[in-house]
Amino acid sequence: MVQAVRGMRDILPADARRWRLVEDSVEEIMHGFAYEEIQLPLLESSELFARGVGEATDIVEKEMYTLADRDGDSLSLRPEGTASCVRALQENGLLYNQTQRVFYAGPMFRYEKPQKGRYRQFYQVGAEAYGFEGPDIDAELILLGAECWRALGLSDCVRLEVNTLGSGSARQAYRAALLDYLTPLADQLDEDSQRRLTSNPLRILDSKNAQTQALLASAPQLPDFVDAQSQVHFSELLALLDGLGVPYVCNPKLVRGLDYYTHTVFEWVTDALGAQGAICAGGRYNGLVERLGGRPTPAAGFAMGLDRVALLHEVVNQSVVSQAADVYICFGSQQHSSAAQQIGLRLRRALLGAGSGLKVRVHMGAGNFKKQLKRANACGASWAVLLGADEVEAGQLTLKNLTDGQQQRVPEAEALAVLMASGK
Ligand code: ATP
Ligand code: MG
Repeated sequence: MVQAVRGMRDILPADARRWRLVEDSVEEIMHGFAYEEIQLPLLESSELFARGVGEATDIVEKEMYTLADRDGDSLSLRPEGTASCVRALQENGLLYNQTQRVFYAGPMFRYEKPQKGRYRQFYQVGAEAYGFEGPDIDAELILLGAECWRALGLSDCVRLEVNTLGSGSARQAYRAALLDYLTPLADQLDEDSQRRLTSNPLRILDSKNAQTQALLASAPQLPDFVDAQSQVHFSELLALLDGLGVPYVCNPKLVRGLDYYTHTVFEWVTDALGAQGAICAGGRYNGLVERLGGRPTPAAGFAMGLDRVALLHEVVNQSVVSQAADVYICFGSQQHSSAAQQIGLRLRRALLGAGSGLKVRVHMGAGNFKKQLKRANACGASWAVLLGADEVEAGQLTLKNLTDGQQQRVPEAEALAVLMASGK
């Protein structure tokens, strides 16, 4: 048998039911905040990410799936959504003289070491806002995340970390000071950090290496370099979060590795998933649109990792996910299989129309009632409909409650009313 490619995950039916619940809840929140959906291609010119994510980032340096098109163009599977989102809006004239609030959802690809919560194909839902200068949009984006956790019952096991990186020039000054401090200590740094000294020194703050972290303890601190205007932006954001009742922790070590990030950065983290604790990350990136060839445009956004959110949902809400089917229709003899199909169709239409969310499965093939009821239980159904010769003759059906074993013979409309009343 050919196996799945390493790091490419199958979401099997039982997990896909949870996945659907999680993704639907998140998208409902996005729609509720009037963020509009945008759908973006999986393949882009490699250059988009080299410019939009940055040559000196781990993503572009070593994590991209890059291939040559038949005519030799270099294409890459998207490792993230923000660069594509800016490209699409810019290319279609949707950033000029207007504001935008959009969200996207879909798979991203990064060649990293697969482990729990870290895959080579993973799924992000991201929100982005363009044209807004003030901290109010930063607060709205954070609130959007908080509402997603609330809807999913995750609020108690996530924490919000926030920081400000200052303006572009403040970051440059800090970068220089950090380099002055670290360069003479280069041979004591871990291998990745040594490489980052020349490519992307701020990312060294992210290092998980204990010796590197020890050296950083007496390094120059980012908050000392943040400019006054950025401080104001940050304290206004914190005041807004206070007003909204969104708790946060200020973490001066929180950096995003990319040059164009400015002012606010934030991350939602959990302790319930081990090493892969970041479930959502974002911030303000006022430099990005210009860097991709547009006019200077304030921008902010975040991306949440749905794989990790679904894992966390499983830890917290083991049992809330639906079953494969709720109603299972059984028939006593093969000649009633068509009647069973028709009842199934009518029930589905009515239940769907009423938004009950109940799923109706009709038995297929042979088997007596006992065997069919076993199938009904195996797929988790709460109800069975039994259709024997008597029922068909009387134009009725027997509705069996599989939880308490009670059954009643009733007209179809009555059965429907019972099912609706039991609905979700
Ligand atoms: P990490 O530090 O965990 O590698 P990151 O900073 O690379 O995360 P971002 O690029 O900010 O991640 O992406 C936003 C979110 O997407 C992350 O917080 C995480 O939840 C999720 N994510 C990123 N990479 C992966 C992956 N390989 N597998 C699963 N989820 C991922
Ligand atoms: Mg990463």
